[in-house]
Amino acid sequence: MSEELTLALDFSGETLTFGFVSASGATSGVARLDLADFLAGAEPPMDKLSALLAAKVRAAPGAVDLLALSMGCDISADRKTVLDYPEAIWLNGNNVVDALAGALGKRVAMERRAAAFLSFDQAFLGLPRDGVLVGCYVDSVYDNAIWHGGGILRGRSGAAGNIGHLPVHGREDNCHCGKVGCCELYGSGRRLRHMHSLIFSDVPFEELFVHHGEHPLLRDFLRMMAYPIAVEANILDPDFIVLGGLVPRMRDFPRAEMEEAIRDQCHYPSPAREFALVFSSIGDDDRIVATARHLRGQPG
Ligand SMILES: [Zn+2]
Repeated sequence: MSEELTLALDFSGETLTFGFVSASGATSGVARLDLADFLAGAEPPMDKLSALLAAKVRAAPGAVDLLALSMGCDISADRKTVLDYPEAIWLNGNNVVDALAGALGKRVAMERRAAAFLSFDQAFLGLPRDGVLVGCYVDSVYDNAIWHGGGILRGRSGAAGNIGHLPVHGREDNCHCGKVGCCELYGSGRRLRHMHSLIFSDVPFEELFVHHGEHPLLRDFLRMMAYPIAVEANILDPDFIVLGGLVPRMRDFPRAEMEEAIRDQCHYPSPAREFALVFSSIGDDDRIVATARHLRGQPG
């Protein structure tokens, strides 16, 4: 008898990563697509997504019992509707869960990416279930979540801990969320991409910290990346801060300086000295594993 599979999808920045995850966590058929590709041609992008996934399910090496989606953006409190995805605005306002469930005849579940990742990291890294954990996953955007009381703290609307749109006093740049000066504009991967294309294009993007890590602009970037984490640490006094995403995994990312920048912006002596900073276990292909396991209710 073939194994039951989850078709897991991770929407991060400009990229959709999707593939099958077995109950034991083995992956197969993993593929990546640029989300901009869904805009080509006359067919509505949501119809293209449904057709792509239907074809994937038909070609599955086993029975697919769940479609699990993790979204690197705000989603509705019932975790069905995408609210604000800047790299794929065609998703905004769509009840993706019901649309895909109707089109494919499968069970579909969706989660904020940071919540799925922190849940996976808690189990995989052996962090205490009864602890207070802050998870910060920094790709093109800033994704945060909080673990408290044995699970993800959701808050009233499900957005608890998502602190990337905290405005920075005195900064006036427009953010896609409608406000100005959000810290995500200055401490996320999108900022790094802009700096790379405007100032540091002499080196490959992935080697930005290798060649220019000491540049004042990159030192300022680190401090801005640390700022919302320090705000959360000051409020929550956590046991652990988990730092993940593409930016901390770049070559020669200055982990020690990052930790110093967080502690330096925390109240002294507590929580500045008391939390432990750990780095996420989640690499590129683990994203869909973390998504599948979280939405199946499995520990990491
Ligand atoms: Zn914003």
